[in-house]
Amino acid sequence: MTVMIERDEAAGATANRYHYTRTVEIAGRTVQARVERDFYINQSLAVAEVLNDQMTWTKLAAEAPGNWWHDTPTPRHDVHAVTVLGPLTEQLLRRAAEILAAPPTTVTVSPHVHGAISALLATSYGFDAEHRIDPDEIAWAYSHGGALHIIEHPDGSVTFTKAHRDDCPFITSAGTQDCDEDCYFEHPADAKLQLGE
Ligand SMILES: [Zn+2]
Repeated sequence: MTVMIERDEAAGATANRYHYTRTVEIAGRTVQARVERDFYINQSLAVAEVLNDQMTWTKLAAEAPGNWWHDTPTPRHDVHAVTVLGPLTEQLLRRAAEILAAPPTTVTVSPHVHGAISALLATSYGFDAEHRIDPDEIAWAYSHGGALHIIEHPDGSVTFTKAHRDDCPFITSAGTQDCDEDCYFEHPADAKLQLGE
């Protein structure tokens, strides 16, 4: 259902602990699942975190060590952390994806943006257009391209865009600076190929 684009992974093991961190992109957001299996249960953790606009990690979901620590082997140099902790990172990333796919509850649409949506519909589908979007299309849009940004410009124009990452200067400056040209979203067909679907 949810498309996750693999970005990075790191794993390792010592005599006292092993860890696995998997970083993916979900709906244009960078999300990591981080599992640390220590010799001691109270020094172990399993969390999913999203990279926020301030470039720090915000916790989205966690799994209490009591739910998985006892089912995992005692740390040793030769523990294969990816194999042992992989299922847990997958579960954490799935939960994070569900949280990110939930519609934000605080969005309000100004009368001006309402007018701009009317114009977007009218210019895309005709002045008397009606167009119904299914839930699948909404989920697809969340998981491909950037997050939707709506920028109201001082001259009364409104930009709707999914073409930029959240920390692009165009977005952070509310349209007063240009894109730094580092915004790139993989074509959905290529993302699928990479996942072997
Ligand atoms: Zn950009």
